[in-house]
Amino acid sequence: MEKLDILSMTLSELEAALAAEGEKKFRARQIFQWLHVKKIFDFDKMTDVSIQLRQRLKEKFCINRLFVSKRLESSADNTVKYLYRLSDGNFVETVLMDYSYGKSICVSTQVGCKMGCRFCASAIAGFVRNLSPSEILMQIYETERDSGVRVSGVVLMGIGEPLDNYDNVVKFLGLLSDKDGNNLSLRHVSLSTCGIVPRIYDLAELKLGLTLSVSLHCADNDKRSEIMPVNRTYNMNSLIEACRNYILRTGRRVTFEYAVIDGVNSSDADADKLASLLRGMNCHVNLIPVNKVKERSYRTVRAGVEEFAKHLGRRGINATVRRTLGSDIEAACGQLRRDALSRGLNGGADT
Ligand code: SAH
Repeated sequence: MEKLDILSMTLSELEAALAAEGEKKFRARQIFQWLHVKKIFDFDKMTDVSIQLRQRLKEKFCINRLFVSKRLESSADNTVKYLYRLSDGNFVETVLMDYSYGKSICVSTQVGCKMGCRFCASAIAGFVRNLSPSEILMQIYETERDSGVRVSGVVLMGIGEPLDNYDNVVKFLGLLSDKDGNNLSLRHVSLSTCGIVPRIYDLAELKLGLTLSVSLHCADNDKRSEIMPVNRTYNMNSLIEACRNYILRTGRRVTFEYAVIDGVNSSDADADKLASLLRGMNCHVNLIPVNKVKERSYRTVRAGVEEFAKHLGRRGINATVRRTLGSDIEAACGQLRRDALSRGLNGGADT
């Protein structure tokens, strides 16, 4: 019988699984806290659990650890980038960032990505599979362990499209914020999507309190379809409609991500279009200097981003220019995993 992935289980699922073994309810909470509060990933170290029960736990459940395959530290800004090997030999990337208010972590939600955004390194290496709730969560727990810090903010902006792995991501968010477990408020979490419109409506109904970040990158529907194929399925107007609904249903401001790419979306006319698209919306625009991806020729001129921001400001749209972190350590999405693959690096499955 295949073992159950205990770190992907909610407290009530664990209670049900242990009740089936004839165990009392409080046992489940004890074990849940070993995993999600004390972050102990070895049944033998759960000292208030009897040796017999520990043995039965080992037979029924597995604790899926991640293994650090590569760790790159930025000398410029304390950003640390991890390449983690999963138990089946696949790789994911995680980035730990140092802000004045605390440590924030950027996690991946899939191995690879299907979305095919032209400027994104994740698209080049292709899609393999979804991550389980525990594989998303363990990027945080293993990074906390390795670095000795407590993470106070989480962004779902690593490899993959979170809303293309909706059920596992929602379950992960539940585990991350569980009051009996890790207890991180979802107010400190941002989820970034390229625009899977039906799932934005679903997410709005959950009223989780997280920040929705939308990778807009272009305010012209046809041009957006060229650089972001997802726009051919869910066009820009339907995306903006879904965002308006999100704001209405949750009372939360939406963030729009806009990578300013020379000669693609960086002109005054592009800024005007963006301003008219977003006029009157409770939103914020985050301008991103595009990260260089070696297979692509896209680039940003820094002064151009500042100009773009000013132009938006004159049109009444709030915009900030995102600080570039970890530029000396290939921190652009998908670059480490792609490099590992192109060097023929394969972790090999654990047995
Ligand atoms: N799939 C999700 C989250 C992952 S990408 C999404 O599309 O939002 C996280 C962010 O990085 C997105 O805004 C994405 O568009 C942006 N991004 C990808 N490649 C980039 C690059 N080369 N330069 C700047 N931003 C990039």
